[in-house]
Amino acid sequence: MTASANRVRLAGPAALLPPQVHVFVRDWLSSNNILLKSRDGHVLIDSGYSRHAPLTLALLASERGLGDDGLLSLVNTHCHSDHVGGNAAIVRKYGCPIAVPAAEAPLVERWDGKALLYDYCDHRIERFVVDRVLPANTTHAWGDLEWVALAAPGHDMGALVFYNALHRILISGDALWEHGFGFVMPPEVDAAAMPAVEATIEMLGALDIRIVIPGHGEPFSDVAGALERARKRVAAFAGDSLRIARHALKVNLMFSLLDKQRMPLAAIPAYLDRVGMYRDFNALFFRLTPARLAELLIGELVKAGAARIAEGDVVPVLDGAG
Ligand SMILES: [Zn+2]
Repeated sequence: MTASANRVRLAGPAALLPPQVHVFVRDWLSSNNILLKSRDGHVLIDSGYSRHAPLTLALLASERGLGDDGLLSLVNTHCHSDHVGGNAAIVRKYGCPIAVPAAEAPLVERWDGKALLYDYCDHRIERFVVDRVLPANTTHAWGDLEWVALAAPGHDMGALVFYNALHRILISGDALWEHGFGFVMPPEVDAAAMPAVEATIEMLGALDIRIVIPGHGEPFSDVAGALERARKRVAAFAGDSLRIARHALKVNLMFSLLDKQRMPLAAIPAYLDRVGMYRDFNALFFRLTPARLAELLIGELVKAGAARIAEGDVVPVLDGAG
């Protein structure tokens, strides 16, 4: 690593982070990995998507990561596939315990592929076992820093965020990104979801935060701007279940495109008819033929510049969709 590369890497808000906090910024298929280092043992927050587990392990073993050290524990902000996909591989290599939010633990224990949006959304995931549960409003010493676990329901109803008051750092998972937050279930599917998003935004707005380490994207320090954009998104969704549902399906289809790299255009209708979330949402909200739903979703992804058609296949253009 040259000095100039070092400078580039540490430019921007990431330079505000204390030295024991290391962020591996990933993409939209894999969540960011946050390593909190301490002489008492290192703690990793979130492990990315299963397909990227080899890269996650390589980053962890790098000089910026653990090097030859072990891992004391692995913690998850929530249990969606892009945050826990590396859990099994990490435990195999490091033998560390896994801690998940208390509200998520029963879902993982019974491997509820619908509630956790695994097979229900056609997400691939290697099964893992929960060793510890993290209740909300508990304090944890990770990386020589004190972190409070705070409930941040909405995108995921059991999600936690982690806040360090001394350095005013928030590890936000998918509750708050620089531009938005993770997709939300429409009121007809979960009446509590959108009100929870609003309450979580207000809870975060009351915290004194200098830098946010989101689940996806670079760390950022314009927290007021991010909260404002999140509020605007909530307002745009208000009372518009079709819009919320369409957004959720588009984000998930984009996620699967990133996972599979390409999908035959002709196979999309049958895919939407087979995979639970698309089938259920279509029956509840759109009532279109699978072919028409495919046309609608792919059309919007192409129009947004997120996907393109190449030789009869749909392929992702961007590294993800918010
Ligand atoms: Zn995520």
